[in-house]
Amino acid sequence: MIYKSDPASIAEFLSDTSNLKTGKTPGVYFPETGEEVAELLRSAGKEGKRFTIAGNGTGTTGGRIPEGDWVISMQRLGKIGEPARLSENEAAITVQAGALLEEVQRKVEQAGWLYPPDPTEGLCFIGSTIANNSSGARTFRYGPTRDHILRILVALPGGDLFDIPRGKHLADEEGLFHIELPLSGTLSFLRPQYSMPETSKHNAGYFSKAGMDLIDLFIGSEGTLGIIVEADLKLIPLPRRLFSCLVYFAAFDDLFSFTAKAKSPESGVNPRVLEFFDGNSLDFLRKDYPDIPENAAGAIFFEQETAPEREESDLERWLEIMESSGALVDTTWIALDREEQRRLTAFRHALPLLVNEWLNRQQESKISTDMAVPDPSFRELFDFYDSSCRKNRFTFIIFGHIGNSHVHLNILPRNREEFLRAKSLYREFVEKAIALGGTLSAEHGIGKLKSPYLAAMYGESGIMEMVRIKKCFDPELVLNIGNLIPESYLAT
Ligand SMILES: Cc1cc2nc3c(=O)[nH]c(=O)nc-3n(C[C@H](O)[C@H](O)[C@H](O)COP(=O)(O)OP(=O)(O)OC[C@H]3O[C@@H](n4cnc5c(N)ncnc54)[C@H](O)[C@@H]3O)c2cc1C
Repeated sequence: MIYKSDPASIAEFLSDTSNLKTGKTPGVYFPETGEEVAELLRSAGKEGKRFTIAGNGTGTTGGRIPEGDWVISMQRLGKIGEPARLSENEAAITVQAGALLEEVQRKVEQAGWLYPPDPTEGLCFIGSTIANNSSGARTFRYGPTRDHILRILVALPGGDLFDIPRGKHLADEEGLFHIELPLSGTLSFLRPQYSMPETSKHNAGYFSKAGMDLIDLFIGSEGTLGIIVEADLKLIPLPRRLFSCLVYFAAFDDLFSFTAKAKSPESGVNPRVLEFFDGNSLDFLRKDYPDIPENAAGAIFFEQETAPEREESDLERWLEIMESSGALVDTTWIALDREEQRRLTAFRHALPLLVNEWLNRQQESKISTDMAVPDPSFRELFDFYDSSCRKNRFTFIIFGHIGNSHVHLNILPRNREEFLRAKSLYREFVEKAIALGGTLSAEHGIGKLKSPYLAAMYGESGIMEMVRIKKCFDPELVLNIGNLIPESYLAT
């Protein structure tokens, strides 16, 4: 197994997209098999070594950034199998954890299948997307990564390689799990004794539900319980046709009315994506897209899967919803073919690039939210974001997954004083979202950046529930320490 410790080789492992600058490590291991990963962990406790797992560094919360621990890079575990049909409407593919998401997507699409999870950034590793239960625009229709994982193979902190097919290890009626491991022996533990928020997306802390499957404890555990080395992904047939559309609105009330209709089961439409841009986001984009109407207060981007025989009636139904909601119909951008759809997707992806360009000219980093709330409370959280930022005269944008009542607010501070004010406002946003029954993180996870806020959501007792499970799998505390669970809680 390759090991590198020279500063030039390890530099790239000290960052992700969080802007955390505290990373340091003695060196990076590059295992090439699951067995090699397990072997590293087997001796870790004895040798007093701790490891941080590195995916491809697109995470936003500092999860892969080591704080003095050794790094295990998943880069060399990149094999992608062949899609195998399970039934008329389902196939599976086996991939190693370091396979690039966009390569997996390309391969399965060439064979006529769709892997629905699509967390915007295609250059992430599949293993990380499972460890983080990543979501994205298509989560509106297809759910998060969790819903598309049939099996994982995990290297546990005690050095066992453990296969977890969905349906094999279920919590009993009391919530107890019993598992037998060759090296670590019998592990018996209760699922976390807290309930999760009633949001359509949630990615903060260990999963817990009556009758839950052990695989779901690992999915979203941010590498704190084990290292995913391989997975079987569930595939569905590629839609026969698709159209996408960008609709502008002059007033927020119209935009919210359109969104409610598009989400309603009675609407006759069934979008797979329902995304939002506020007026400030459109101002950023106008630099590259001068045709954006001047009077647009916001816009909705949607995608609709369809079939040749239904396409016209589906388009008509959408037009009725636009007209009845007061959309700026004349300026609507409809993409019917692949080329136009690529242009529209580029429009969506241009926003983070333009924001980063702007940030690169500033001294301070952005403050961004990832909270979601139950649908009935969404407007209240949205108005709170918007009015608080206006009151503070911040430069800000709000965009994202409105279908899941989950938008990202990015505050872009122009100086230190604004950064500090935005940071204290962030805590108010967390408190507001939680008071509304929401979650601290709907998709990006907690990592190191957001762990100080976890107690606001779970209280100390909730965090200690996670500590109990962490210590059951990782009694010597060798894996991803500082991620998700604040380190001070592990000392108790
Ligand atoms: C422009 C942009 C847009 C994004 N949009 C979205 C979005 O819409 N939705 C969304 O959910 N995310 C989004 N993300 C975040 C990001 O892409 C995901 O969190 C992704 O899962 C990170 O993958 P990575 O390989 O880069 O992981 P890394 O950043 O390297 O690691 C992320 C975490 O996973 C752990 N980890 C990595 N591999 C494993 C493994 N094999 N086993 C166990 N733990 C492991 C690491 O220790 C770390 O804690 C976006 C990021 C960017 C830059």
